[in-house]
Amino acid sequence: MAALVGFSPCGRLGPLGRKRHVFHPRHGRSLFPRGSASSSGSKAVYDVVVSGGGMVGTAMAAALGHDVHLRDKKILLLESRPRKVLHQLPESYSNRVSAITPGSATFLSSFGAWEDICSMRIKSFRRMQVWDACSEAMIIFDQDNLEDMGYIIENNVIMAALTKQLDAISDRVEVLYKSRAVGYTCPVHYQTSDSSPWVQIDLADGRRLQTKLLIGADGQNSLVRKAAGIQNIQYRYDQSSVVATLHLSEAMDNNVAWQRFLPSGPIALLPLSDTVSSLVWSTSHEHASQLLSMDEESFVDSVNSAFWSNAHHSDLIDTAGSMFRSAAAFLMPSGTAARQLPPSVAKVDPRSRAVFPLGLGHATEYVQYRVALIGDAAHRVHPLAGQGVNMGFGDIACLTRHLSAAAFDGKDLGSLKPLLQYEAERQRHNVSLMAAIDLLKRLYSTSATPFVLLRTWGLQATNAVPPVKEQIMAFVNK
Ligand SMILES: Cc1cc2nc3c(=O)[nH]c(=O)nc-3n(C[C@H](O)[C@H](O)[C@H](O)COP(=O)(O)OP(=O)(O)OC[C@H]3O[C@@H](n4cnc5c(N)ncnc54)[C@H](O)[C@@H]3O)c2cc1C
Repeated sequence: MAALVGFSPCGRLGPLGRKRHVFHPRHGRSLFPRGSASSSGSKAVYDVVVSGGGMVGTAMAAALGHDVHLRDKKILLLESRPRKVLHQLPESYSNRVSAITPGSATFLSSFGAWEDICSMRIKSFRRMQVWDACSEAMIIFDQDNLEDMGYIIENNVIMAALTKQLDAISDRVEVLYKSRAVGYTCPVHYQTSDSSPWVQIDLADGRRLQTKLLIGADGQNSLVRKAAGIQNIQYRYDQSSVVATLHLSEAMDNNVAWQRFLPSGPIALLPLSDTVSSLVWSTSHEHASQLLSMDEESFVDSVNSAFWSNAHHSDLIDTAGSMFRSAAAFLMPSGTAARQLPPSVAKVDPRSRAVFPLGLGHATEYVQYRVALIGDAAHRVHPLAGQGVNMGFGDIACLTRHLSAAAFDGKDLGSLKPLLQYEAERQRHNVSLMAAIDLLKRLYSTSATPFVLLRTWGLQATNAVPPVKEQIMAFVNK
């Protein structure tokens, strides 16, 4: 997808000939009322300020602080919420979990956070079974060599490990919790006598900071993105995700991630231990609120029936599906792994149910002069592929590499060259992944026969050809 250029009253051509969107203080486009906060605070100039300390922003600050070429840089992480401390891991599992790819695990290991995660709580899975509620079509991803396919980790555990790594480098990375940025003023590329060369950051408590590079990790409603005038293509899906912590009927070798596509949306069961799994059920907003308000027993019945019921099958599709399957087994006998049955659920953790509205977001540019966006500030995807935070970690690995190289060469970290290299690399990867996820969401949101036949054939053909599955796994791991 080609990057679109947002409308700008003061657009200009960047060094690579692209029209960049600039944000000039004198043109009055600051989101912050000037004067009300500027005079009281310090005028420290940071080399890098990361605004937003969720999983992505915290990992960004930790990765920068651990980079050998950025050792002498002044780095700050800003987070509006208080610091969360996990003194002791609670016995019950959190309802917010993430499927983490081996690629993200490698990234987190690069600065020590992975070892901390492993010492807390983590569940690996070796197999992934995805199947259609309207037919017998399915796809199985597994590893012949018994390597892990991915990991299910509570978001709190990831945050605790990242915070521990930040604490270990507190001499290199400053962290301000309970510090909300309320305005950013970005400089123009060419200097005028009365404008600051740095990005000015105004905090809610009246302080004003300055930085040579501002990294926006402030989530889907990013203020950094708005202040930089970067256009965001976004829409809300007709679905919300219900999450919950579930107890299985019996203890088992719980190492499969299950996902079934129902016409109303995908339902996923992700392993947390031999007896506990996490639910992510994306469905219509109305159904999501019903699932939230129904009693625990009815909720468990609904989950079991969503995984087991064949109410959406039809004879025509079953016959066509079995013909595809026989043909695939004949042509590619090695590619047809055996179907397994999902576990049944006995109980839901009280008060673990929660709902999240879903949407898509794509920042048409990831960078401006002295500004870069990462994580959900740059892209927001449907959770059906479990990719959101993995894409954010991929952004960090890429941006840190380009900034490290710029520092090694003695270059300005906020200059457009390293930032545009980051943008080109990450948009190429992220946009194709977002498009694939969006297409899957649409293709599976129908029970119309032609679409069901098309996806039945597509899923079975993909399942039968191991190299195609390997390519898919390699791509999402980048
Ligand atoms: C139901 C569900 C399931 C998911 N499952 C997976 C999965 O299995 N795997 C996966 O990879 N992804 C998954 N995701 C996506 C993943 O959770 C997100 O992509 C990820 O949390 C985004 O992290 P972030 O740090 O970019 O943004 P956020 O988590 O939104 O963090 C932004 C931070 O910025 C701070 N902030 C905002 N504004 C300011 C300001 N003005 N000043 C200072 N601080 C500010 C906020 O307080 C917040 O801490 C899932 C999402 C959902 C909804």
